[in-house]
Amino acid sequence: MSKLRFKAIQESQGRTRIHIEEKGRRSEQFGSNVFNEEKMLRHLTKDALESVRGAIVSGSKIDRKIADQVAEAIKGWAINMGATHYTHWFQPLTGSTAEKHDAFFDLLPDGRALEKFGGGQLVQQEPDASSFPHGGIRNTFEARGYTAWDPTSPAFIYGTTLCIPTIFVAYTGEALDNKAPLLRALHAVDNAATGVAKFFDRNVTKVNATLGWEQEYFLIDKSLALSRPDITLTGRTLVGHTAAKGQQLDDHYFGVIPSRVLSFMRDLEIECTKLGIPVKTRHNEVAPNQFELAPVFEEANLAVDHNLLLMDVMDKVAEIHNFKVLFHEKPFAGINGSGKHNNWSLATDTGVNLLSPGSTPMKNLQFLTFFVNTIKAVDTYEELLRSSIASESNDHRLGVNEAPPAILSIFIGKQLSNVLDELEGVSQGKLSPEEKTELKLNVVGKIPEIMLDNTDRNRTSPFAFTGNKFEMRGVGSKTNCAKPMMVLNTIVASQLMAFKEEVEVLIDKKKLKKDEAIFNVLREYIKTSKRIRFDGDGYSVEWGKEAKKRKLSNNKNTPDAIQVLTSKDSLSLFKSMGVMSEVEVRARQEVELDTYIMHVQIEGRVFNEIIYNHVIPAAIQYQGMIVSNVSGLKEIYGAGHKKLSEGQLTIIEQIAKHVEALKLKTDAMVEERKKANLIEDSNTKAYAYSEKVKPYFEDIRYHCDKLERLVDDRLWPLTKYRELLFVK
Ligand code: ADP
Ligand code: MG
Repeated sequence: MSKLRFKAIQESQGRTRIHIEEKGRRSEQFGSNVFNEEKMLRHLTKDALESVRGAIVSGSKIDRKIADQVAEAIKGWAINMGATHYTHWFQPLTGSTAEKHDAFFDLLPDGRALEKFGGGQLVQQEPDASSFPHGGIRNTFEARGYTAWDPTSPAFIYGTTLCIPTIFVAYTGEALDNKAPLLRALHAVDNAATGVAKFFDRNVTKVNATLGWEQEYFLIDKSLALSRPDITLTGRTLVGHTAAKGQQLDDHYFGVIPSRVLSFMRDLEIECTKLGIPVKTRHNEVAPNQFELAPVFEEANLAVDHNLLLMDVMDKVAEIHNFKVLFHEKPFAGINGSGKHNNWSLATDTGVNLLSPGSTPMKNLQFLTFFVNTIKAVDTYEELLRSSIASESNDHRLGVNEAPPAILSIFIGKQLSNVLDELEGVSQGKLSPEEKTELKLNVVGKIPEIMLDNTDRNRTSPFAFTGNKFEMRGVGSKTNCAKPMMVLNTIVASQLMAFKEEVEVLIDKKKLKKDEAIFNVLREYIKTSKRIRFDGDGYSVEWGKEAKKRKLSNNKNTPDAIQVLTSKDSLSLFKSMGVMSEVEVRARQEVELDTYIMHVQIEGRVFNEIIYNHVIPAAIQYQGMIVSNVSGLKEIYGAGHKKLSEGQLTIIEQIAKHVEALKLKTDAMVEERKKANLIEDSNTKAYAYSEKVKPYFEDIRYHCDKLERLVDDRLWPLTKYRELLFVK
C-alpha cells in the first residue's frame, strides 16, 4: 500500500464516535431555531401578523412600516437566540445556496455601537454578486441584482446567523435563481387547481403543491476522500477497479447502520429538528456506504428550501464526524448511484389531498380529475419534464438499470388502468341515468377499495402513482428540487386551466350536467394520453423500442435533453403561465449548457492529472522493478533465465500496452478539449464536450483500472474502492 493511502486509512481508523448530547424530546425541539407561526404569534403585533399571513396565503404586499415592525421582532428574537449576523439566503443558478453575512452591529455617528436591522434590510438586499451565473441577463460590469424576502419560507437561525430565505432577481426583473420561477409556478398551480377544485367544493380557496423528497447519499471517510484528487474535485471517482465485493450480497440494504454512521445521523437529525426540517426516515441504501434520509412532506417551496438546507447541514455535520458526504449521482462505477425521489401531490386549504380517493363517488371523481389531468400534463410535456432533471452527473445514472430510463412514462398499476379503460368506454355527450349509476357506483365508487390493493409498485418507472401521490424517480441526488417542481407544477397548472375551460364549454354550450361534462373531457384525455402509460419493465431494451414507436422522447444526455427548453411550445407555456419570460428561459438554458461544459472540462483536467502524475509513474516504477528482476535473473542464469522470467516479461508488456494506450487516449482527449474550448457558441461547445471529449473517459478508465490490477499494491497511489467503501 502506498504511503499516502496507508496514512489516510490509518487516520480513518479509531475516529472518535462523538455526538451532541440529545436533550428532551425531538417534538419539543422542533423548529426551535425557526421564526415560525408560533414565534410570530408571540413576537408580532396583530397588524404585522395579519400582514405576514396575508403575504403567505395570498401573496399580498407587506408595507414598509409593517416590514420595520417585523424586522424589529425578528431581530429581537434572533439576538436573544445568540445570533450575531444576518444573511439573505438564496438559490443562484449554481444549483446550491448562497449567503453573505452582515453583522447586526452598527456604529452611530457619535461612535456608540448598536444592533441594527430594519425593514429595509429584511425586505431587500443588493449582494455584490456579479459572479453568479446569469446566462447573459446581467452584464458583469453592471452587477445589478437584488435579493427579496420570501415570507412564505420562515427565517431561521443557522449557527449564529439569521437566514432570511429570498429570491434573487436582476434589476430589470428577470429571475436569476431557482426560487423565483418555482414560486411563480406554485402560484399558477394554486390558481388553476383551486379553479378546478371548486367544481367539487366551493369552499376551497387555495391549493398547495406538496413535496416529500427522499435524499440518497454516500458517506466516505474524510481523509480517504481527500486522498483522491477525483473525489475532491469532481465529487466522484473517475477511475478505480471495482472491489471484489460490491452490493451483490444485498447485505447493506436496510441492514444495521454502522455505529459511526448512526452517530452522524443522530447529530444530523438533531440539527435538522431545530431548523424545522421534519426528518423522519433513515436507512442503509443498496450500495455499500450508501444511505437515505426522508422527511415528512411539506408545502413544495418550503420542502425545496429544507432540502437545500439539509444538504448544507449534512456537509457540516459530516465534517465534525470526519466524513465526507458524496451527493454526486454516480460516485462509484459498478454499484448503484444516488437519486432523490420527489413525491408530489396537491392539497387544498380544506385539508384534502386531491390525489387521494375519498369515501363518496363525487370525491372520487375529484380524485380522477386531478389524476387524469396530471397524466395528460406529463404526456403533453414529457420532454420538458425530462429536461428538468438533466445534469452532467445525472447522465451517468438515468437509463443504466439502477434508475429510471431517460424516457418518461407513467406507472399507475393494473387496477387504476382498468378504471381508466372503463371510463374510456363511456358514451359521448349526455349519459343515461343507468349509465351514470353504473359509472358512479361500480367504477368511480369502487376506487378506494381497489386501491387498498395497489401494492404492485414498479421500481423501474420514472413517474409512478403510489396510492395518494405521484413519485418522480429520475431526479438526481444533487439536483435542486426547485427545477423539477417548477416544471411539474407549471405543466399541471396549464393542463388544469385547459380542462376547466373545456368543461365549462360543455356545460354552457352543450348543456351537459357538471359531472357529465367532466366525464366527457376526462374520457378524451384518457384516450389521447395513452402512450405515456407504461406498467412494464422500464429497464428493458424492448421498452426503448416501444417508446420510440410511441414517439416518446429518449434524450440520454444533457445537451440533448435541454434543447426542448426553448422550443416554441415550452416558451409559450412558461410565458402563458407567468412562470418565465423568453429571456429567462434562454438564460437558463445557457447556464445549463455552461454548467455541463464546465463539469466535463474539470473531469477532463483531473483525468489528465491522475493519469500523468499518479497512474503512469506508479506503473513505470513497478515495471522498472520487474525489469531489474529480469536482468538480475539474466545475470545469474544467462540464457537459461527465459524460463524463469516468462511471467515477468508478460507483465512488463501488459504494463507497456496499457501505459501507451493511456498516454494516447489522454493526449487525444486533451486535444479534443482544446478544440472544444475554441468554440464560442455554448450549444455547439456542449455537444463537442459530450460527443468528442467525454467518450474518452471510459477508455481511459478501462486501461487505468487494468493497471490497478497489475501494479504492486504498495505502489498504487489511489485509495481503492475496497478501502473507500468498506473501511468504517
Ligand atoms: P418509498 O417506498 O419510495 O421509499 P415512502 O413511502 O417511504 O416511499 O416515501 C414516501 C415519501 O412520500 C415520504 O417522503 C413522504 O413524506 C412523501 N409523501 C407522502 N404523502 C405525500 C403527499 N401527499 N405529497 C407529497 N409527498 C408525500
Ligand atoms: Mg421513493
